[in-house]
Amino acid sequence: MIRTPTGLVLLGSPVSHSLSPLMHTAALAKAGLHLRYIARDVGNDELTDVVREIKERRFAGNVTVPHKAAMWALCDSLTSIARRTGAVNTFWVQGDRLCGDNTDVGGFDYAVREVLTPFHGMKVTLIGAGGAAAAVGTAVEQWSGARLTLWNRSQERTRAFVQRFDTVRVETSLSKAVEDADLVINSTPIGLTDDNFPVDIDLLPPHAVVFDLVYKPGETAWVREARARGHHASDGIGMLVEQGALAFSRWFGFSPDREVMWKAILESSEIKSANRNSSA
Ligand code: NAP
Repeated sequence: MIRTPTGLVLLGSPVSHSLSPLMHTAALAKAGLHLRYIARDVGNDELTDVVREIKERRFAGNVTVPHKAAMWALCDSLTSIARRTGAVNTFWVQGDRLCGDNTDVGGFDYAVREVLTPFHGMKVTLIGAGGAAAAVGTAVEQWSGARLTLWNRSQERTRAFVQRFDTVRVETSLSKAVEDADLVINSTPIGLTDDNFPVDIDLLPPHAVVFDLVYKPGETAWVREARARGHHASDGIGMLVEQGALAFSRWFGFSPDREVMWKAILESSEIKSANRNSSA
């Protein structure tokens, strides 16, 4: 039986920009749960002590950059998805055990299906090989016959990714990596604080669908430009909401009201999602 947590916390650094407190506060209020969701900036050397406190106080919550892999190692129990991904973004306490899940996987899978239906033999190109990329890799390997190509800047992270997902094809030329892709995914922070593109739109096949894990007010320049050139394209806001909704379900054993989570984000931050705006 699930025991309600006594509080909810987001662990990361930095965390002040996060939209998670906003959407979870709205979901908690709608569900009639009198709990707070707070963001806590935690340094690398503090994480172990914070986890001890979380277990004592029976908190639940989320983990973001840079602690997802460290939290994975600190958990006493992992879902099969978290085990496969090597990263934890959602945790809760059961008895005296810290349990971890990775809802970025389901969040990504849900959000990408808003713009395309995965088909057998689909060619997927992933740019970036960090924690979010591992969630993408875990989702894509569940798509029947999907073929994953990876381009990443550093060899170090490329090697780690290939160790986990040994069927991935590594490409060192970015133009070759995307030349016949059906779906191109950005899992780097490129475009978050500027209008840079992870890959030039000219290099993509005309039919390629573009999915950017990055989100920001007015969408990323890459997503806007891709759509202007006729590509189906989505930013990461749908993934953010869905991973949050899946985390909520883990903590409380029932689904939150996703509409109020969307509303909280769209209203307060002027974040716009073209998919959402056309249907909401
Ligand atoms: P991470 O673990 O730090 O990995 C970052 C990746 O981006 C690495 O592969 C890194 O390559 C690459 N990279 C960074 N700067 C680059 C640059 N200037 N040029 C080329 N490659 C670069 O971060 P993460 O957790 O995977 O997150 C990545 C992005 O996804 C973030 O912007 C985050 O906000 C977003 N995200 C969104 C959601 C959502 O719900 N929408 C969920 C999770 C993450 P190297 O190996 O060369 O360093």
